[in-house]
Amino acid sequence: MASDVCSHVRVVVRVRPTTEREKTENCRSVVQVVDNHMLIFDPKEEDISCFGSQRVRNKNINKRANKDLKFVFDQVFGEESTQDDLFEGTTKAVLDGVMNGFNCTVFAYGATGAGKTHTMLGAQNDPGVMYRTMTELFKRMEDAKEEKEFTVAFSYFEVYNEQIRDLLANIGPLAVREDSSKGVVVQGLTLHKPKSAAHILEALDSGNRNRTQHPTDMNANSSRSHAVFQIYLRQQDKTASLNPNACVAKLSLIDLAGSERASATNAKAARLREGANINKSLLALGNVINALADPKNKKTHIPYRDSKLTRLLKDSLGGNCRTVMIANVSPSSKSYDDTHNTLKYANRAKEIKSSLKSNVVSLDSHIGQYAVICEKQRQEIVQL
Ligand code: ADP
Ligand code: MG
Repeated sequence: MASDVCSHVRVVVRVRPTTEREKTENCRSVVQVVDNHMLIFDPKEEDISCFGSQRVRNKNINKRANKDLKFVFDQVFGEESTQDDLFEGTTKAVLDGVMNGFNCTVFAYGATGAGKTHTMLGAQNDPGVMYRTMTELFKRMEDAKEEKEFTVAFSYFEVYNEQIRDLLANIGPLAVREDSSKGVVVQGLTLHKPKSAAHILEALDSGNRNRTQHPTDMNANSSRSHAVFQIYLRQQDKTASLNPNACVAKLSLIDLAGSERASATNAKAARLREGANINKSLLALGNVINALADPKNKKTHIPYRDSKLTRLLKDSLGGNCRTVMIANVSPSSKSYDDTHNTLKYANRAKEIKSSLKSNVVSLDSHIGQYAVICEKQRQEIVQL
């Protein structure tokens, strides 16, 4: 896509399917996917579809005007999108960067229950981005093994309440330090050599059992921690007899904590503190991405130091790093505010100027329509 040329931040949205419960409760759908690049949040009444077999009118909704907000992203994945669609449309291209020695980051953002873990980790019988990325990486290493020698290692840790915990060794808290040659280093973090992509999946599965989870009113298994899976790829050219340069690239695949506001979980004191820290990291991440994406910012001050998560990602966001943000949303009217907030966050994360331009370029079929929408959307962004 053209946006990869002018922007290193690619923002995609995935709308998860409606659950059986939402269907039986006749929740209204508040997201209408228009095509691969555009969705409408809170569409006009005539566009509204209901999940249940019977259309039930919600009086409160009918009283006010629908927001009918159009959002354009690098890609929009609808309810029927498969795990493979997500991999093909997000991480696959990022692997080119990794193979060329660049640090890359892919993260899933969204409220609890919006589909982050499903997208990143997935299920045994339908694995997500993490497993598919590893399978593809192993394939590419195999294809290039005549020319290059590879060494791969991985780690898996969580950031919870601004503290780092090794999920594979189940130890923590661990400290972060910056090393002039190695970049950002988590002290004492265990590194593991994968035997295969399947081995990594097993390790992630057992690491997940060590993730900090607390029941809240919203979701009995809500993940309140950011889970960071990192793969380090060292490659050395076998064919260059003189000065065989080795380069190391780091790929970070991150399942972020739920972005819902602490108040929405009806949390008590400890959970509130937790919520505040989660929001601090997510806010800091948003600020870093905005600073990087802002064409007016001279890149002199990027606020990496504002949270643990952004400190950790200092060498993996910005510069030549490729970043993909997957914003996960629920289509249900029950998640109205969360979905709206996630779309706004994702919208701000875009390198607005270049990605909107490139969307126009890549959509020959209805360029005229997009030019109008993009202009309207710019105005909406100003009003947000
Ligand atoms: P999160 O990690 O954002 O809290 P989950 O990934 O756990 O959310 O998703 C919540 C529920 O919805 C899970 O039962 C999950 O299996 C299901 N789900 C989410 N996204 C999809 C999808 N694209 N297709 C099928 N089921 C999904
Ligand atoms: Mg989750």
